[in-house]
Amino acid sequence: MSATALYARETPGFEARVQNALAVLQRAVAEHAGRVVQATSLGAEDMVITDLIARHRLAIAVGTLQTGMLHAETTALIPAIESRYALAVEVYEPVNESVVTFVRKNGERAMYDSVELRKGCCAIRKLEPLSRMLKDRSAWVTGMRREQSNDRGTVAFSELDDKGRTKFNPLADWSWADVWQYIASNDVPYNPLHDQFFPSIGCAPCTRAIAVGEDFRSGRWWWEAEGAKECGLHVHGADAQVSMIGSHA
Ligand code: SF4
Repeated sequence: MSATALYARETPGFEARVQNALAVLQRAVAEHAGRVVQATSLGAEDMVITDLIARHRLAIAVGTLQTGMLHAETTALIPAIESRYALAVEVYEPVNESVVTFVRKNGERAMYDSVELRKGCCAIRKLEPLSRMLKDRSAWVTGMRREQSNDRGTVAFSELDDKGRTKFNPLADWSWADVWQYIASNDVPYNPLHDQFFPSIGCAPCTRAIAVGEDFRSGRWWWEAEGAKECGLHVHGADAQVSMIGSHA
């Protein structure tokens, strides 16, 4: 059964949430003209946001992180977006020398050895490229939702990251059913791995399908304790590991 058939459901207030998400994006444009980017993980939420941006011709750039560890199905979404929406996706890759040095020292499977090494891999493959994506930007847009995990229960429609950039989260109050209702209603392209019970899709070694009833985030870094499960893209405040943001990823 497809993800749209499985999850799409119109619930009370859906249209209002769509309009509110659009209003948040319009505010991002109004307040940060030419300096705002959608950091897309190419996941379901981010595909909704890209569709809203393109459908309403909003002046928001679209950027993604090509970590070098993505599933082929995920990578294939980049040309699919470009073709469907006639927009260019900015692709940020890690510094090759950093990756080679890290792998030579710690091995290909270092992310399973310790939280520290896993975060080290994320720092090289995600955080540093993200810092380049955000370098000349004063704001960014993410697909974070309150429902995604306990840690994200307080996601606001806009907030400041630890560098003082504004982070807009237009889907903060959306449910998983809302995301798929929008995708189904607007024929939004999405990662076919969602049809195979991958709720949250990141790098291949760190993503798995989940069983019915399992927690949403149990498909990511499942070998780690729940409290460690962030890649640093969305941390903020004094404990921030990085100087900016996240999708996710
Ligand atoms: S999600 Fe996994 S493979 Fe991807 S950067 Fe982080 S540790 Fe490395």
